Amino acid sequence: MNAEKKTLLVTGGSRGIGAAICRQANRAGYRVAVNYVSNQGAADALVAELKAAGGDAFAVKGDVGSEADVTALFEAVDRAFGRLDAFVNNAGIVDVKARVDEMSVARLERMMRINVVGSFLCAREAVKRMSTRHGGKGGAIVNISSAAARLGSPGEYVDYAASKGAIDTMTIGLAREVALEGIRVNAVSPGITETEIHASGGQPDRVARMQDMLPMKRAGTADEVASAVFYLLSDAASYITGAILNVSGGR
Ligand code: NAP
Repeated sequence: MNAEKKTLLVTGGSRGIGAAICRQANRAGYRVAVNYVSNQGAADALVAELKAAGGDAFAVKGDVGSEADVTALFEAVDRAFGRLDAFVNNAGIVDVKARVDEMSVARLERMMRINVVGSFLCAREAVKRMSTRHGGKGGAIVNISSAAARLGSPGEYVDYAASKGAIDTMTIGLAREVALEGIRVNAVSPGITETEIHASGGQPDRVARMQDMLPMKRAGTADEVASAVFYLLSDAASYITGAILNVSGGR
């Protein structure tokens, strides 16, 4: 019976926006693979929560910026579920505030390796499994971009903004590339969302500091972003591909 259930893999699914996506998919009856890179405690706790709610989920460690890890990640999903219906390219990083004239090669390469190359590698593996061209049954991919791609993030992290610009372009190109192969590819572009990512970039007060400047005078929640992702993954969005959906409260 489980073999008939749809499956979802979310990179960086253990915390923040990714965890909210995993929870919504679990409630909707998907079998869920939760990827993480270092915080095993958070991943294990989420999987225990999903299982306690009656779901079928597992955690799988892997750095999306490593080709070997990405290959192993998708093979783990093959072994556990035997099919892949939905994939969310969610794992992403920011860095500490810096101007472009202060950025090191090491910083730039890490940003692009995880946010851009990692997303491409994962999309590649998802397409290999979903595409009718490769014997798959089709599927849906959602990439997590950012309002930063439109705003540029001056004085904060132009490198991060540019990495998300690449995600928008990849979304449009890949959507058209696989449109006849049963795969829809879309992006969700969140504005400032309440998660731990801001603290990881050395700005734990970023949401509180910026919320008065936002049109709705508040940040979004991970659940509000996840709802948009879940809609794009679902059959309700069957004629939507190559779209970039802003979930940014008007920003
Ligand atoms: P978060 O709370 O910092 O969570 C990040 C998740 O990604 C964690 O599960 C983390 O795993 C995982 N991760 C980090 N680096 C990874 C890697 N190299 N390989 C695999 N997994 C990795 O982040 P978030 O705020 O939910 O952000 C999720 C996505 O939304 C990102 O792409 C981000 O750019 C985008 N976004 C966020 C906001 C916002 O305001 N929060 C706004 C726009 C866009 P561990 O727990 O093991 O570290």
